[in-house]
Amino acid sequence: MNIKTIGVIGAGTMGNGIAQVCAAAGLKVTMQDIGEAQLERGLETVSTSLDRLIKKEKITVDDKQSALANISTTTSLEALAEVDIVIEAATENEALKLSIFEQLDTICKADAILASNTSSISLTRIAGATQRAGQIIGMHFMNPVPMMALVEVIRALQTTNETYQAVHALSEFIGKIPIEAKDSPGFVANRILIPMLNEAAYVYYEGLASAGGIDEIMKLGMSHPMGPLMLADLIGLDTCLSVIKVLHEGFGDSKYRPCPIWQQMVDAGYLGRKSGRGFYVYD
Ligand code: NAD
Repeated sequence: MNIKTIGVIGAGTMGNGIAQVCAAAGLKVTMQDIGEAQLERGLETVSTSLDRLIKKEKITVDDKQSALANISTTTSLEALAEVDIVIEAATENEALKLSIFEQLDTICKADAILASNTSSISLTRIAGATQRAGQIIGMHFMNPVPMMALVEVIRALQTTNETYQAVHALSEFIGKIPIEAKDSPGFVANRILIPMLNEAAYVYYEGLASAGGIDEIMKLGMSHPMGPLMLADLIGLDTCLSVIKVLHEGFGDSKYRPCPIWQQMVDAGYLGRKSGRGFYVYD
């Protein structure tokens, strides 16, 4: 595999998990975010997550130390000039991602691949914002990244086979299972998952059952490991709202109409687990 160095943009829920799995596989990772506080929090999460793996006897204390030693942090995009691939995991917002990719296109070396972990935004449009459209691709990791095997690999219309093969190899190298999907709003995973979460939000909004009741019904009745509202809290309610909006606008189909409660919760700062409160309250 030719990829040895990785830039990860965003040290949040997904970014720190992506940094962790890449670093644990022996790759050099530069994790970038807009502030030192976000980077510190991201590194703390990686450390806690590695401790959990030590407790489960899946890795040793030495493994943890070498993984952490493979991660450096920065608030500057310019620090990613020499990396072989960037995996962007910043907030789910199209304008933000387009701006990041335009900047990366001028900063990164000519043969670098620029991947996005976007949950729903068009890779074809992101690719169109750069002069290296063939080297743009989606690497959609699942949450929590260290636990979940899947990487949905999304080809933009312009993505070359060479880029696809490199990302396929990278995904396997870091212990994940890549599965290909075409570029369409929500791709495959979130085209199916997010409308279900939206329906669960409507059921809650209409007062048909409590959050706990809804989640227990889906766990006990459908054998889901986690109820839909707890899963929404894990994903982040701002991210759920962004994705359902992309589906609604992208398909122009009223079946994806966002439940009003998403916007209310986001306006209140109730973003789910990451902010300490969503459908549930967290310590
Ligand atoms: P998050 O809110 O936990 O973290 C986002 C991070 O991006 C924050 O630390 C924020 O400071 C940073 N950021 C914002 N603007 C930035 C900029 N201009 N430059 C650098 N960093 C910036 O969000 P998340 O859940 O980690 O989501 C990140 C991406 O991953 C989104 O595209 C989301 O759709 C996708 N995703 C999320 C999940 C999930 O379950 N949460 C799953 C798969 C994919």
